[in-house]
Amino acid sequence: MIEFDEMQLNVAKTIHDFCKEEVVPQVKNYDREERYPLEIIQKAAQLGFTGGVIPEKYGGSGLDWKTYTLIIETFSYYCHVMGLAMSTASGLIGSGILKYGTEEQKEKYLKPLAEGKSYGAAGVTEPNSGTDVASLQTTVTKDGDYYVLNGTKMWISFLDVADWILTFGTLDRSLGHKGICAFIIDKDTPGLSFHPIKNKVGFRPIESGEVVLNEVRVNKENLVGEEGKGFNVAMTAVENGRLSVAARAAGVARACLDESLQYAKERIVFGQSIGKFQLVQSKITDMIIGVENSRYQVYKLAYLKDKGYRARYESSAAKMYATDTLMKIATDAYQIFGAYGCSDEFNVGRYFRDAKVFQIVEGQNDLHRSLIAQNALDYKS
Ligand SMILES: Cc1cc2nc3c(=O)[nH]c(=O)nc-3n(C[C@H](O)[C@H](O)[C@H](O)COP(=O)(O)OP(=O)(O)OC[C@H]3O[C@@H](n4cnc5c(N)ncnc54)[C@H](O)[C@@H]3O)c2cc1C
Repeated sequence: MIEFDEMQLNVAKTIHDFCKEEVVPQVKNYDREERYPLEIIQKAAQLGFTGGVIPEKYGGSGLDWKTYTLIIETFSYYCHVMGLAMSTASGLIGSGILKYGTEEQKEKYLKPLAEGKSYGAAGVTEPNSGTDVASLQTTVTKDGDYYVLNGTKMWISFLDVADWILTFGTLDRSLGHKGICAFIIDKDTPGLSFHPIKNKVGFRPIESGEVVLNEVRVNKENLVGEEGKGFNVAMTAVENGRLSVAARAAGVARACLDESLQYAKERIVFGQSIGKFQLVQSKITDMIIGVENSRYQVYKLAYLKDKGYRARYESSAAKMYATDTLMKIATDAYQIFGAYGCSDEFNVGRYFRDAKVFQIVEGQNDLHRSLIAQNALDYKS
């Protein structure tokens, strides 16, 4: 049983009210226009929702993981891009800096990120290294107090709003993950350029694309963690990011269920509500149980993180299960809506498009499926 205290329920109610007022009237437009809803995100930031689990001294809200998860899930019920925006500091972009960054880096980059006053990007993926992060090809050479980076990153998100990027290169590819270094690079650094990929199928409001690093000189002050330990920074970021991906997927799945219930009652075919057909009921039953089980995985992970566990395999399980379940639920919702699923007058088409992307980002699900079994089999990964 997932239970919330009075404070958490009040937080959820505030988000529901906020989203009905701010997000619902806009979400179809900004999805269609591939526009990041910055003005709405800034209003949510003023209410403290971007701060997440980041400690207050670094601009965060100092929340426990459970309350944070509830925030991400509730925003995502209306728009998972809003959920993502509330998770960047605690997840993919900020958590590696919180764990490995210097005090100066936390003050300069993490604090404004948690406060929602500045934005970052996390550049891990490359054209030839997605799942296999350790095989990245971006090179790092040392030159006095500077590191010089050359390479290309691919599918990096927030290119339109990011003021800086947390990214990775290798001092020596033969060292594998032991050669990787992490850096924060300001957007206006010479040699750094962003090239968005337009008209994506899903995740449309987020501008993702190519980042080129051409003789980019980075002061040693901007090395995150130690030389050769950048892989740990990347893994911290993606593992914390997985909780928010799973919570976002659970939020979207709930939206699919609620909208399908309403539509199944209202749509009349052969003189009766389609909800009277047993095959529609079967889909709804699967949705109800899928949503419940996804939320169980997600809040179990939050519970373990609140207890201080790294919960690596539970992160994989929650991410894989919640996003695979969302893919099934969104497919069933689309079927229930029939032709209207294709129309962007309704939300289910967007849920369906986004569901597929959820299975790929922050570790594609075939990888997570392997990692969980390898752990159980005691195989080293
Ligand atoms: C909209 C969007 C936003 C993104 N944002 C970011 C971002 O902000 N930052 C960032 O760094 N990246 C980002 N990514 C990239 C994303 O994280 C990668 O696409 C993902 O890690 C998979 O890498 P790949 O696409 O290179 O797949 P590949 O590694 O080429 O894998 C392709 C397929 O091969 C199979 N496969 C590969 N390895 C294994 C394995 N070990 N076990 C089983 N099967 C396997 C799987 O079926 C997999 O789907 C984004 C991607 C998208 C689509």
